[in-house]
Amino acid sequence: MKLDLRKIYRFEAVEHGAGTPLPTGGDVFYECMECNTVISSVPYTPAACDCGNLSGNKGATTIRDSAKVKPVRGRLK
Ligand SMILES: [Zn+2]
Repeated sequence: MKLDLRKIYRFEAVEHGAGTPLPTGGDVFYECMECNTVISSVPYTPAACDCGNLSGNKGATTIRDSAKVKPVRGRLK
């Protein structure tokens, strides 16, 4: 079952300089600009976006193309 995190969190963009590593953290999420899926930057259960650019598990995310990823900070609604 797929959970739409936008129903639970309000997301805002995180400042992120080009060429620097993406931020990670319990309140940081990655939005895939290819398929619009949002997943946690530190997923503790298997997570992946629809197009396969982002996949994660056990607290780490694998990113195929970081140019297509927008880091966002999530706050519970
Ligand atoms: Zn994607």
